[in-house]
Amino acid sequence: MLYGIHLILTYTCTRECDHCWFYCSSKTEGTFTINQIIELLNEARKIETEWIYFEGGEPFLYYTILLEGLKIARDMGFKTGIATNSYWATSIEEAKRWLKPLSMLNVSILGISEDPFHFDGNSSKNTPARIATFVAENLGLKVLTLSVNKPSIEEIMGHERRLVFKGRAVEKLTENLPRKFWKDLDRCPNRDLVNPKKLHVDSFGNIQICQGISIGNMWKTPLSNLVENYDVKLHPICYPLLKGGPALLAKRYNVHHDNEYVDECHFCTIIRKALLDDFSEYLAPRQVYGNR
Ligand code: SF4
Ligand code: SF4
Repeated sequence: MLYGIHLILTYTCTRECDHCWFYCSSKTEGTFTINQIIELLNEARKIETEWIYFEGGEPFLYYTILLEGLKIARDMGFKTGIATNSYWATSIEEAKRWLKPLSMLNVSILGISEDPFHFDGNSSKNTPARIATFVAENLGLKVLTLSVNKPSIEEIMGHERRLVFKGRAVEKLTENLPRKFWKDLDRCPNRDLVNPKKLHVDSFGNIQICQGISIGNMWKTPLSNLVENYDVKLHPICYPLLKGGPALLAKRYNVHHDNEYVDECHFCTIIRKALLDDFSEYLAPRQVYGNR
């Protein structure tokens, strides 16, 4: 059973956050159509998926598709969630207009980003996230605040909730942070590469076990077949990562690299970027690596 599919409704976003794992911005493309969502949900049902999360990018940019997708997913028996940066919550009245239709669709979780990356962190200011949270809770929606700290030495040393250095965070946020010797980065700390319980799926068909690592394309092979036939031993990127983390991935493919990195994901992303041309089928889509 697959616990959850994170449906990347669109890669387009109103923001261009330094920590974005998918390199989203107003220029990134790739949005699901309703027919594509139906095809995906039919496949998800075959493999007993429990949750469908509508994410991005910013899913509210394609509000009609979002509402229709949520409705279809609900009618098919999935639990549903959404993640948003709440750019649309410019006032209480506006937020009510956007959220009322959602409150009638049995959405289980509304994830709202609120942290120093998305807003200025001024506690006296009514940010869109705070307005959205207030209105959503009044409408009976369960809100989950999505928050990460700006990277700091304390955070890296493990005293605070920490950011994971993938995607744009590698380019923008790793400077001047403490680093570890590359040989010690010998495991994947954040993903179950053998029996994945969550997958990110985009409109290009990429089924991503971690951001930018594809286990196949669902527009070429049905999702249920890809998931059922997935074998980590046959995946040229996941297997080295499973056996020895980014350190083994670098060694296996003889990738030239630095001596130290901030964390496993930082090292992993750098090595994968170097392998993009050799493993384009497995390292997709390219835009998740900052290649537009
Ligand atoms: S982190 Fe979220 S809000 Fe920021 S650019 Fe990425 S998708 Fe958009
Ligand atoms: S080590 Fe690589 S595969 Fe594992 S979570 Fe980090 S980026 Fe993903």
